[in-house]
Amino acid sequence: MPAKMLYEAKDEVVSLLQKLIRFNTTNPPGNETQAAEFLKETLESEGFECEFFESAPGRGSVITRIKGKTRKPRLLLLSHLDVVAANPEEWSVDPFAGIVKDGFVWGRGAIDMKSMTAVEVMIMKLLKRNGVKPRGDIILAATADEEMGGEAGVGWLVKKHPEKIRAEYVINEGGGFTIPVKNRNLYTVQTAEKAIVWLKIRAKGTPGHGSIPGAADNAVMRMAKIVQLLGSYRSKIKLVPTVKRNLEELAKGGGIQQRFFTKLLANPMLADKVLDMLAKKEKSLAETIRAMLRATIAPTIIHGGVKENIIPSRCEAVFDCRILPGQTKDMLLNEIKAVLKKNGVELDKLEFEILQENTPSESPVETPLYTAIEKTLREFDPNCGVTPFMMTGGTDSRFLREIGCVCYGFMPTKPDLPFNEFLKMAHGIDERISIQNLVFSLSVLYRLVENFMT
Ligand SMILES: [Zn+2]
Repeated sequence: MPAKMLYEAKDEVVSLLQKLIRFNTTNPPGNETQAAEFLKETLESEGFECEFFESAPGRGSVITRIKGKTRKPRLLLLSHLDVVAANPEEWSVDPFAGIVKDGFVWGRGAIDMKSMTAVEVMIMKLLKRNGVKPRGDIILAATADEEMGGEAGVGWLVKKHPEKIRAEYVINEGGGFTIPVKNRNLYTVQTAEKAIVWLKIRAKGTPGHGSIPGAADNAVMRMAKIVQLLGSYRSKIKLVPTVKRNLEELAKGGGIQQRFFTKLLANPMLADKVLDMLAKKEKSLAETIRAMLRATIAPTIIHGGVKENIIPSRCEAVFDCRILPGQTKDMLLNEIKAVLKKNGVELDKLEFEILQENTPSESPVETPLYTAIEKTLREFDPNCGVTPFMMTGGTDSRFLREIGCVCYGFMPTKPDLPFNEFLKMAHGIDERISIQNLVFSLSVLYRLVENFMT
């Protein structure tokens, strides 16, 4: 059967998304159970057997599967049910009404990521209706808690019930959107993500009276120097495989991007020079690429001092650090200490505390699933390009990559909003997805499952 757009499922998938948006699963607190129960019902009405899990009261996840002819390969279609907060006063529609307007479905979660839940549930239903017999199991999991780190969702499932969601291959959020490149759509496949290391530094000093500053040792001044040093520091460049491939694909695009990225790839260690020039023309692109080449350190909170006339003996600051696949928190800490020491900051006057951390992750690009994604996309969009892509943020994929699954972020969409507006959609105001893109995603992903699993 040739690839085709599944318009006959349009109304059904739109309705699924509308219903999902209407469950207010703002996390915290999450309250995903109602949405998970709704999915369980709608799947069971078509003969699926579902398993329902609660990591804590109200924190529901649902899993179902279509049994394969053999044990392998298993494919997991993953999504999360929770969303981030939405302030109705900022929106032009009710963010939890799930309305359809101007050819779009509007609401919190329309992009991140109830649309993909709706698409994945629809795929399961269509596979069953069409009597598709896959090679290995096709598993669907719609889970809690991604937006607060996933420990009460996929993290919990991996710990408590790994056999329920373990699969050789996983399709999740984080990629599939297109980067505008001359004359063709360049589809992204999220194959890697950075990790957070939230670091608190405490600077100590000696208190004193504000009228005789020289007699004291001011902790705020010490911290001011640290913030200045770390905030402007550029960590060592490291080209991970995903980013290298991504830049190679961008360099094929023509125009100024081709010029810049070709130059950058010729000598990655001089990347900053090239990016400084690119930043004059396309700042957000240049800075995004810069953040893909290295660990980053962003000072985000600072506290110090209690009274107008007391020289403070303590000052603390928080740094939002992000590390690359292959890097660890200890590598970053050592680098930070070396920078401070080299610039005359006394390390014995400092305390370091890790507030929160997770692990970076990367899946290989040379897999049969990646090849199937390329093949399937070209059935729908013959001239398109495909590129692996690293997120500077994170998704639940890291839990599954850690137990050996190949995970790709892939919810294919075509550019029907200006790129800058699209980028602001996830977690933003007036989040929405076009019905055209909903059907496109459904059609490509359904076809992908068919190509890969039968
Ligand atoms: Zn998400």
